[in-house]
Order: sequence, then structure tokens, then C-alpha cells
Amino acid sequence: MIKNISVLGSTGSIGTQTLDVARNLGLQVNALSAHSSIELLEEQIREFKPRLAVVFEEAKAKELRLSIADTSTKVLSGMDGLLELSGDDSDLMVNAIVGMVGLAPTLEAINSGKDIAFANKETLVAGGELVMNAVKEHGVKLLPVDSEHSAIFQCLQAAPPSKVIKKILLTASGGPFFGKTADQLKDVTVEQALAHPNWSMGAKITIDSATMMNKGLEIIEAAWLFDTDPDDIEVVVHRESIIHSMIEFTDNSVLAQLGMPDMRIPIQYAITYPERYPSPVAELDWTKLSRMTFYSADDTTFKCLAACKKAMKKGGLYPAVANGANEVANRLFRDRKISFLDIGELVTSAVDNIDVTSAACLDDVLRADKAAREYVYSQI
Ligand code: NAD
Ligand code: MG
Repeated sequence: MIKNISVLGSTGSIGTQTLDVARNLGLQVNALSAHSSIELLEEQIREFKPRLAVVFEEAKAKELRLSIADTSTKVLSGMDGLLELSGDDSDLMVNAIVGMVGLAPTLEAINSGKDIAFANKETLVAGGELVMNAVKEHGVKLLPVDSEHSAIFQCLQAAPPSKVIKKILLTASGGPFFGKTADQLKDVTVEQALAHPNWSMGAKITIDSATMMNKGLEIIEAAWLFDTDPDDIEVVVHRESIIHSMIEFTDNSVLAQLGMPDMRIPIQYAITYPERYPSPVAELDWTKLSRMTFYSADDTTFKCLAACKKAMKKGGLYPAVANGANEVANRLFRDRKISFLDIGELVTSAVDNIDVTSAACLDDVLRADKAAREYVYSQI
């Protein structure tokens, strides 16, 4: 098993659960990073004694340097700091940052020959082609952390190397607003959208779950990770979040991966793959699992889902546009500047109205992302 890790985004929901896994497995943590939450980062530094800590905001990095002056941890800031962390000599990097700001660090980690336990879906949506080409070129592993993709990856361990997968059945909880009509969603509040029925996650992805943008991003993520035609990925709403996804073979046999909705299972599997170790997650109690329900997804009401499918069909930089537009719209909704339904309208309209071509390099992706962000701001 690997001995040490670095963690991009260690103060978030996936980041803190990653440190819980590292604590349980007794892994050395070489580097930690946060956007600006230095109090929690300081606690993590004092516990894990990393060589490096990166705080994206320079002013906060300065504050942290003073408060941990008694330790030997070096503190860096900005994108340069994130790139230094990503290029270090750890056995594996856990990418638990939120947003496509993780793209350049991901490419840097791949170029340095490191395997990545990968949660940061926005990066793969925006820069899928660049990332997957780099993965092939450097022969590294992109090990999925997202629960659905971990489930598919776990099921694929039982598949022969030949192409016998007919489709991927990507499960979705449906979020807090499953079954609601557009009319019923007109006035929903940020608090209502943040109340996810099954998972406790960071604010951005919780809103993405409510709009079903999360499932749209995940279709694109799965298409890249598993080299699958998006038309062969079917979203199945499964309200209980016990089945984390399935694969269907050519003979119509279906394999599923099940477990409690707790991210520490997929995080740990990505870190210890192909081995398995005991985890702190509870066993499934089959006697309490009275039923499992399944429905189709409503991409007429949940427009983000349709917009992501359209972006993937258009190809090139359109997924980067959908993602960039959503990163801004999601933030504007949380800041109470736009309504819940505006998110779907803005993402759809960005995909329909912005002209972009294919991605030749990182700058192309960054330009498409910027165009999408500016477009959303110009519409409100
Ligand atoms: P979060 O908001 O809880 O945490 C995000 C982390 O990224 C924090 O540590 C934050 O400080 C850091 N960060 C953000 N911007 C940064 C920047 N510019 N520079 C440096 N650090 C920065 O988010 P999360 O819920 O942990 O999600 C992280 C990623 O994992 C997202 O891509 C999300 O879609 C994905 N994911 C999350 C879950 C979950 O259960 N939380 C499940 C599946 C996938
Ligand atoms: Mg998921």
C-alpha cells in the first residue's frame, strides 16, 4: 500500500474525510491545502505535521505563517503553491478541491507521474480531453472518489478487458426536490436547497445535487473516466442512495455496488486500490433496508441535466462552458442574487449561445471557462 499522500482541498468535506481515512490507515500526510480556512488548516497541520501547507489567499497564508511559526511546515500561497503541492514526490495526491481551479494542479500532478484519488469532477468536465491524454501519456492512475464512479470502477474489476459493457447505470438520489414541478421550485430558498436527504457534502455540490447539475457533471465525468459514449450512460433515480451505481453487460447481467452513503468507503478504496482494508463506515443493516425505489430522471424540470447532455453532445469546450456557467450561477444562487430556476436557465443559455471550438491546451479551457463566467454575469 502507498505510504504517504498530499491533499488538495484538505479543509472541505472530502478533504476532512480523507484525513479521517489517512488517520485510520496510519498514512503520512506530506501536504495540505485550503482556500482560506486557516483555523482548521492549522489544526490539521498540528496533527499531521506536513512538510507543506498551501493557502490560496496570500493574506491568509501570511497569517498562518505567523500562527505556525513554531512548526517546520512551509506555507505557500496562490496557484504557484497549489502547483508546488501537486508536483511533489508523494505516492498519491487526493484532489478534493472544488471547482475547475483544480485543473492546472491536476495536470501538474499527472506530469509529475503521481496517481490521483480524484474527487474534483469540475476539472474533468472542463478539461476531460487534456486530463485523459496526460493520464495516458504518463501512465498514471486517476482513481475515482465520486461514489458513483467508485461504484462503477469497483464493478469493472469483475469485467473482462474486452468491451462487454452495454451501459452504465448512474444512480442519483434526486436531491431534496425530486418529483417537484418547475412551478413548485420557483421560490425555493437556499436553505431548502441545502437540505440534502442522504449525503452531507460541501455547499456547492449540495446545490448541484438539488439542480441535478451534479448528475450532468457526473455523466461527463463517467464518459471520460470509463471511455464511454454518453448515450450509454443512463441516469436512474434511486432515492435511498444505497446502490451507488451499476454496470450492465452485453448479456443483460447487471452488477451493482452497495454500501452506506458515506464517502469514506470510496475515498479509502481510491487510496488503497487494489487492496481493501477495514473502514470506520457502518455495515449495511439489511433488516432496516425495507425497500429500494427507482425512477427515471426529469431533465425537463431539472434543466441543468439536459444542458450537460447537450454540452457533451456538442463536444469540444462546451462541457467547460456548462461547468463555468454553473460555477458562477451556483454561487450567485447561494449569495441570493438569482433564483433557483435561474441556474438551469443560465447554464442552458450559456451552452446554446457561446461559441467555442475544441481544446488544444489548458489556455483554451481557461478561455472557454472565462467566457462562460462573463456570459452569466452579463445576463443578470
Ligand atoms: P468543500 O467546499 O467542502 O471543500 C472544498 C475544498 O477545496 C476546501 O478545502 C477549500 O478550502 C478548497 N478550495 C476551494 N477553492 C480553492 C482554491 N482556489 N485554492 C485552494 N483550495 C481551494 O467541497 P467538497 O464537498 O469537499 O467537494 C470537493 C470536490 O469533491 C468537488 O469537486 C465535489 O464535486 C466533489 N465531490 C464531493 C462529494 C462530497 O460528498 N462532498 C462527493 C463526490 C464528489
Ligand atoms: Mg457523486
